[in-house]
Parts: sequence; structure tokens; C-alpha cells
Amino acid sequence: MKKNFKKSLSVFLAVLMAVSCFSVVGFAAEVDYGAHNDHKDKVVVLEAVAATECTDGKTEGLKCTQCNVVIKEQAVIPAPHNFGEWTTEKTDDCSKGYKKIRSCQNSGCSKNEEEVINKHSWGDDTEIGWSWVGEPANCTNSGNQTRKCSVCNKEETRTVEALGHKWEKQKDGNRPSCKQEGAEATFACKYCKEVDPDRAGNKFDKLPHEDADGDGYCDNGCGGYISYDGEICTCPCHQKTGVLNTIFKIVLFFMRLFKIGQKCGCGADHYPAD
Ligand SMILES: [Zn+2]
Ligand SMILES: [Zn+2]
Ligand SMILES: [Zn+2]
Ligand SMILES: [Zn+2]
Ligand SMILES: [Zn+2]
Ligand SMILES: [Zn+2]
Ligand SMILES: [Zn+2]
Repeated sequence: MKKNFKKSLSVFLAVLMAVSCFSVVGFAAEVDYGAHNDHKDKVVVLEAVAATECTDGKTEGLKCTQCNVVIKEQAVIPAPHNFGEWTTEKTDDCSKGYKKIRSCQNSGCSKNEEEVINKHSWGDDTEIGWSWVGEPANCTNSGNQTRKCSVCNKEETRTVEALGHKWEKQKDGNRPSCKQEGAEATFACKYCKEVDPDRAGNKFDKLPHEDADGDGYCDNGCGGYISYDGEICTCPCHQKTGVLNTIFKIVLFFMRLFKIGQKCGCGADHYPAD
């Protein structure tokens, strides 16, 4: 049983190989040689040659020996060379174009490579090579820049205009009250810290204590009782709410009983005079 299986497997593989061989031959027979199709047997393959160090190679080609015609040219496979550093031709104006050359260092090889360049080399300080002469441009002053080509020594200068301030809020403003003066917001430059003269935090005077709604108490911030002279009465009797005010109402009973403290510091009566 095992033997039979092995046998049939090898037969199967043999058939598979035969079929694949036939198909390769079948494809080969279909290659189109154009005008040379009727004498295909005279077409020969021009062997490919691998590139070695300093010697170019070539790809495979086809030639008809009957007509003595190359059907498919052999392309060059460039050889690897051992190039040295680039040397630069002298020039006094890069824009007219100059050459960079490097040659193969291997003995017996004379391979050179050239590159034609027609722009200046401004250096790698920045991409475009500018550096400041003196003070850099800032918010209010322009500045000068220079650059020099490292190949032809050409120099260029330019002026960079003042950049202008960038205002940002420095301090919030606040409304005036009877407790503190008011101020507008201030703006200052993000870069030079200079304060915007148009938004430098104008001050507003402190407000007087004022009773706008007629309840006797100040409506401009402090909430205190306004006495006859415009000042705030600090006596517990004149606190609008709070513990002191509650205690005072108890104390008032005794004040009345012993007839003391009839008048408040602000001039108002604590209790009616007898
Ligand atoms: Zn070489
Ligand atoms: Zn031919
Ligand atoms: Zn240059
Ligand atoms: Zn500024
Ligand atoms: Zn007030
Ligand atoms: Zn009082
Ligand atoms: Zn009072």
C-alpha cells in the first residue's frame, strides 16, 4: 500500500514537470522577432555581462546572424567607482555656471564625474545664509542683514523692516467703586513689553458713598449706612444685617433703661429723647 502510494506520487510529479517544461518551450516559441520570424533559428542571444569595479557591464541582447542585424541592443550597466571628494572650479560669478568634479581613486581608472552648478552657495547658517549686521530688527527698528557666497565671494545685504508690536492684554480693568478707584485694562507688547500708550490703564476716581435707592445705605460698593456728613456709620445699630446688629437690639433695651447712649455717632437717635 505504502509503496503504491510513493509510486503514484512520483508519476504525478514527473507529469507535472513535463507539463511545465512544455509550457516554457511553448512561450519561447511565441517570441516575436518581427521581420526575422521566418528564420528564427538564426537569431542568437548576445550574452549579458555583469559590471565589475570600474568596468561597465551590459544587458542581454538579440542578433539575427542571417541579416547581420541587432534586434535588441545591449544596454550599459554602469560600473561602481571609488569616487573621491568633489573639487570646485574657480569662478567669480556662480550665476554663469561652474563645475564640480570628482574622479575615481582606483589605479588605472580615469573615470570622472561632473556637475554643473549655476547658483550661489550662501552657507548653511540658515537655508538662505542671512546673518544680522549689528542689532537685529525689532518691534520699532529695522535691521540689516548680509550674506556671502562661499564659492565666488559675492556679498549681498538687505534691510529687514521693523516688525511692529504685538499687543496682548497685560492686566484686566475694573469699575470704580466707593472702596477703590477704577482702571481700564492695560495692553503691552508680547516681545518688547512696551505698554500700548492708547490702552495704558486710564484711572477713574473712587466713587463717593451714594444711596441711589433711598434705603439709607450706600449702593456704590460698601453697603454701609451713610451718615449726615457723607461718611459711613460704623456703629452696630447701622449695620444692615449681622450678629452685631442683633446683639445691639438687646443692648438697646438696657441703654434705654439707664438712659445712656441716646444718640448714635452719626447723629441719629438710638431711641427717642424723653
Ligand atoms: Zn573607477
Ligand atoms: Zn534576419
Ligand atoms: Zn557665488
Ligand atoms: Zn514691541
Ligand atoms: Zn459706600
Ligand atoms: Zn448707633
Ligand atoms: Zn449711626
